[in-house]
Amino acid sequence: MLRLSCCVLFCLSLLAPACRAAPPLEVVTTLAQIAEPLGWIAGPRARVSSLLGAGVDPHLYRPTRSDVARLAAADLVFYNGLHLEAQMEGMLQALAARKPVVALADGVAPTRLRAVGGAEGGSARDPHLWMDPALWRSALEHAVAALIAADPAGAEGYRSRARAYFLRLQRLQAYVTQVMATVPAQARVLVTAHDAFGYFGRAFDLEVLAIQGLSTESEAGLRRIEELVEVLVRRRIAAVFVESSVSPRSVQALIDGAAARGHRVRIGGELYSDAMGPPGDYTGTYLGMLDHNASTIAHGLGGRVPAGGLRGELAEMAGPVEAAGRGSSAAVH
Ligand code: ZN
Repeated sequence: MLRLSCCVLFCLSLLAPACRAAPPLEVVTTLAQIAEPLGWIAGPRARVSSLLGAGVDPHLYRPTRSDVARLAAADLVFYNGLHLEAQMEGMLQALAARKPVVALADGVAPTRLRAVGGAEGGSARDPHLWMDPALWRSALEHAVAALIAADPAGAEGYRSRARAYFLRLQRLQAYVTQVMATVPAQARVLVTAHDAFGYFGRAFDLEVLAIQGLSTESEAGLRRIEELVEVLVRRRIAAVFVESSVSPRSVQALIDGAAARGHRVRIGGELYSDAMGPPGDYTGTYLGMLDHNASTIAHGLGGRVPAGGLRGELAEMAGPVEAAGRGSSAAVH
């Protein structure tokens, strides 16, 4: 008797729903900043969705029962890694025994990672890779290679859409460099709630000061707030920034502390640090998130920002998929 493989059976009969390799692939990611670009690059070859939606903090997020079911049904799973999804690590490791579970951080050479001293004297590697478009490109290329390995018949399409996407990313990187260069030298300090913007600061020549460390897991310390108030007053820093996925309470404490010392500090705007904006919104795309952050920071620190940022130009750029986000089936909730 002939023993036929799943794929041979699929070719012989259309009644083979169990054949998991047939496109579209079911792809589940932790972050939307992974799902949205990959959905764009995958086009019709995959359905890509993320577990974490707008305003959700990945450092603290615990998977729900429906998340576990979605991960169990996925063909391929992507996550950031470097301890970002701290509460999900055990589950992702267990899942890796049954299906490809890929950390995007594995696509970035260790020498390009920021090492930051921890409270106990140790050092941790900064997981916020998406803050530098060059690092995130390497991370996404690693994910695209995994998509091609899972769906080799779609390789040409993945590569062509990835090229088109990375052209947009390159344009955005040039735009961010340009707007950040307009911020006056003495104002090039970004003060935020937690240390998510280190790669952004390194890439675009900006000093970054944060109340909390790389993770939001531990509470903001009173001593750190006092230290930063001292810096704000001494250096006459005019603006601080809040983050969409972190409570603004500690940033408000900085503003109040500086005011008590006679120095007025305002909120320069809300930044997307660990979560993107809502799906369907420009800031719900990775490119839109970076544009928003760079434009808000530059404007808040006294730089010059073109009206509307880069949005119009990105929508007009030619490519196999017409507009940012259009080819994506990323569904965040
Ligand atoms: Zn973070």
